[in-house]
Amino acid sequence: MNVSLRRIADNAIEILIQGLPLPIINAIRRYALAKVPTMAVDEVAIIANTSALFDEILAHRLAMIPLYSEVAIRKYAEPPPEVCAKCTASEAEEKPPAEVCKKCFVHLYLEAEAVDREIVVYSGDIKSEDPDVYPVYNNIPIVILAPGQKILLELRARLGRGLEHAKWSPATVAVSRYVATIEVDKKRCNLCGKCVEVCPRKVLELSNTEIKVRDIYECILCKQCINACPNKAIDVVPKSDEYILYIESSGALKPATIVREAANILISELEELLRKVVEWRGRKVTAQ
Ligand code: SF4
Ligand code: SF4
Repeated sequence: MNVSLRRIADNAIEILIQGLPLPIINAIRRYALAKVPTMAVDEVAIIANTSALFDEILAHRLAMIPLYSEVAIRKYAEPPPEVCAKCTASEAEEKPPAEVCKKCFVHLYLEAEAVDREIVVYSGDIKSEDPDVYPVYNNIPIVILAPGQKILLELRARLGRGLEHAKWSPATVAVSRYVATIEVDKKRCNLCGKCVEVCPRKVLELSNTEIKVRDIYECILCKQCINACPNKAIDVVPKSDEYILYIESSGALKPATIVREAANILISELEELLRKVVEWRGRKVTAQ
């Protein structure tokens, strides 16, 4: 198997993978969307809201703001549902002790008031009690306050997974795609250049003597070049053992962290499956 980094930026990673079955690459892609945990606002206590937005809309907007989670995924626990259920129980004695919640929840606050002119409240106005958990972007508008309006909110953020709600998904885009092979039949090609003109990714270029492939990894197999060719001289087919995995991050986690965590979760689940199979080996199973 060969794995190489094609591109990496603050918010995206593109990896070239050879010799790994597509279902495994797809599993990593899906785990990146659904199983890698991040922090997100899960509860909002509305102490005051005289803005034009309903409480629910305000809470939803806050939940969708990506929170920096690189440190939090190791620092915080994911609350088991049975413990969390007790948090909302009416009898005080049933609630879990505060130190349990501290392991799971981060408190953040948002307070703003428009006195004599209209103001826009941004994600950057949110204050967190944990310096390791904060809005990734400061410029996400939350609400516009007219003069005299105010909000005072207490937010509780916790670790969760995209499987539960998209607000916890660290990846905004996760795709795997085939790598192409492009063949030009020189006997048929008259160098008309039509394939070069229509290619949306500028993969092809025309020289004096031939059609050249500028960057094969840019090809998205759209086949527009094939359709445009008057002489049926060009063909594009997917390779059977080379793929590109592309992940774009919400900013909550670095793109490389998303891939690493997704692969780790997949490996640990497969190890668990293997352990079970080894445990069952040799057991006689009687059908009921
Ligand atoms: S298949 Fe599409 S992207 Fe690839 S070379 Fe042809 S026109 Fe360009
Ligand atoms: S469109 Fe066909 S004939 Fe024209 S340059 Fe491309 S491959 Fe050659």
